[in-house]
Amino acid sequence: MTQSQNAKNKKAGKMRSGVFGWILVFLAFLACLGLPACSKEPDKPAANMQAAREDKKNVKELRDAIKRLEPFFQPMGKPQHSDWLASHNEPGQTFDEYLDSNPTKPTAGRTRIYVLPLDAFTPQQRKAVQMVEGYLAAFYGLVVTELPQQNLKRPLSVKDFRRDPSTRREQIRTGYILESVLKPLLPADAAALIALTAEDLYPDATMNYVFGQASLDDRVGVWSLARLDDNANYDTFLRRTLKIATHETGHMFSMRHCTKYECVMSGTNHLGETDRRPIDACPECTAKICWLTDEKPAERYSRLEAFCRKSGLIKEADDFRRKMEALKE
Ligand SMILES: [Zn+2]
Ligand SMILES: [Zn+2]
Repeated sequence: MTQSQNAKNKKAGKMRSGVFGWILVFLAFLACLGLPACSKEPDKPAANMQAAREDKKNVKELRDAIKRLEPFFQPMGKPQHSDWLASHNEPGQTFDEYLDSNPTKPTAGRTRIYVLPLDAFTPQQRKAVQMVEGYLAAFYGLVVTELPQQNLKRPLSVKDFRRDPSTRREQIRTGYILESVLKPLLPADAAALIALTAEDLYPDATMNYVFGQASLDDRVGVWSLARLDDNANYDTFLRRTLKIATHETGHMFSMRHCTKYECVMSGTNHLGETDRRPIDACPECTAKICWLTDEKPAERYSRLEAFCRKSGLIKEADDFRRKMEALKE
């Protein structure tokens, strides 16, 4: 993103205890459309974790799917000057590394993704929010429920908003939304609660703005549409919105940045980099998603194709169909 030049990556950490006495540190990541680093090295797996995951019956099937899907994705090449990987040294995360990381996943009691519209939207933004809800449901195979729109209570405390120094536009502090707005609203059955807002956001004084921020431990996140239009046409704006929502929700399920392919889970440093990424996840990241919900990749692609076709995303619908057919050969 464009703000990498003016911001230090800020990682907010939070401690929690792991099963074997390990301490896992989880960060609140800042959205990665050019945002600060979203990830932290996972701890080494517990010794018996590998054996435990091998018991999962669909792991072998998912590894087979990875091989079949590889031809559909472009390997990550040498980063261009302003790209995310030109300034962030990230190791990536394979499917196996993901399984070893003891990821946060939906549980029997936490099965829904909730979307909260926050403050007013333009008709175009509102339409994109509805598309996000449909795409998240198709992408993650979870029920997505929209909560009633909330408006931020004004006047805000001086510690919770500011004016952008260059545009004088009002910006809302992400920590305020996460702590004071979202956490009190978090439904018990939420796998994740995502607020979408047209407000511009900032995390703290070290950054000019962020596209969003999520707290993995608390299952809440907020993302802004404010900077995604960038004079783009609606189709471009929509695809950017789908990508950021999908990407950040992936982080909430412990998925790290992808460095192996041009993938929706790859970090991006500017909108041009975002625009060249697909709205789909690469084979490794697709395996993670299917493992999360114990789903067959071909069934997931079928659902994604249906959503994209009815939504006018024809190129993507055709692409999902080809992948689905490759898995059935
Ligand atoms: Zn990210
Ligand atoms: Zn990937």
